[in-house]
Amino acid sequence: MREPGTPGLKASTIILGAGVSGLSVALALLQRGHRVTVLERGAVGGESSWAGGGILSPLLPWDYAEPVSALALRSMAAYAAWVADIEAVSKLDAELWPCGMLAVGVESPEQALAWCAAHEVAALHDAPDSLNLSGNSNPIWLPSVAQIRNPRLVAALRATVVKLGGVIHEQCPAMGVLGQNRRVTGVQTETETFKADSVVLATGAWSGLGLTELAATPNIRPMRGQMLLFKLEPGVLNTVLFRHGLYLIPRRDGHVLAGSTIEDAGFDKTTDDATRQRLHADAASLLPQLADLQPIQHWAGLRPGSPDNIPVIDRHPDFDNVFINTGHFRYGVTMAPASAELLVNLMEGVTPALDPSPYRWQAALARDWVGV
Ligand SMILES: Cc1cc2nc3c(=O)[nH]c(=O)nc-3n(C[C@H](O)[C@H](O)[C@H](O)COP(=O)(O)OP(=O)(O)OC[C@H]3O[C@@H](n4cnc5c(N)ncnc54)[C@H](O)[C@@H]3O)c2cc1C
Repeated sequence: MREPGTPGLKASTIILGAGVSGLSVALALLQRGHRVTVLERGAVGGESSWAGGGILSPLLPWDYAEPVSALALRSMAAYAAWVADIEAVSKLDAELWPCGMLAVGVESPEQALAWCAAHEVAALHDAPDSLNLSGNSNPIWLPSVAQIRNPRLVAALRATVVKLGGVIHEQCPAMGVLGQNRRVTGVQTETETFKADSVVLATGAWSGLGLTELAATPNIRPMRGQMLLFKLEPGVLNTVLFRHGLYLIPRRDGHVLAGSTIEDAGFDKTTDDATRQRLHADAASLLPQLADLQPIQHWAGLRPGSPDNIPVIDRHPDFDNVFINTGHFRYGVTMAPASAELLVNLMEGVTPALDPSPYRWQAALARDWVGV
């Protein structure tokens, strides 16, 4: 059995899954002096955390349940400092850009503005002068919304975790756990057993599957999202645009992402031509400069879907030293800092800043997909 390294420090934790959910918990634990080993089935950040768009806000934030808003808003307030720390340690630029988000065609703008006022989110019933959006009524401009470039965030997080002493094993799927008297003593991979004082499950869409001796997280389901990537000159679009379910996300170097679909297609990451054509047409109707361009890339990722988009952040009901951080569905990048903070507070027995009850295992059991 492989023993955790560096004795003399606090408890050792094995984290399963190196997406943004696992890496952000790794970072929070390392910052509090824990020893951390991350086991990743494939490549670090190679799944949903790579595939996503990196908008740091729920789309139409007034449309979500309060537990989503609470985690998202706490994260959004912390994001700039969180990323600054990661960039300072890793010396890598995660490309955080407070570019704002403009939603057009908003159904009830007065209700949206009232929600924003109640939640202290800056909002205007107007569009910035720089955007020519003739024919798009009912705009809501959210100037404080930021975005981040997912692959760069993941690279910077990875480098930070390693520089702070974390150990990451790629191509190392966890197969099961060894448990005794409500405690897990080790995690089994294909080739060896890793010993740990505690375990964090952050296996994204796969957390709905469970491992040998470890029950699956309730109601987590893969939800496919297809995305297109275009390349324009820098500066053509300088804000996130959203209309009727479709968003455009500009990067500073002129790349523009267009997404996305929400498809209940199991663990199938294939893309299809009909969706490419539809996304392209919708994107071009929002930004006409895209009409004559072909997308340079088309991919799909599997979000860790959860009813009402409410993640599970809790202790595992069968083991006192196993913890869960999963099910962030459409907003795992947005919610990463506050989710990691909440989980690590639960692990250390520190009173959390947010009410943990909506994110409990039992609450997730009570929510199901019927009617979603
Ligand atoms: C098209 C699309 C657009 C999105 N846009 C946004 C957005 O704009 N803003 C936003 O906030 N969010 C967005 N999201 C959602 C966001 O990407 C996810 O919520 C987030 O990445 C989930 O992170 P995660 O670490 O939980 O999951 P993942 O990134 O999927 O990581 C889970 C990891 O666990 C690993 N794993 C699985 N099983 C095992 C095992 N047995 N052993 C070891 N490792 C294992 C997997 O290989 C994977 O690397 C988007 C997602 C998609 C697909």
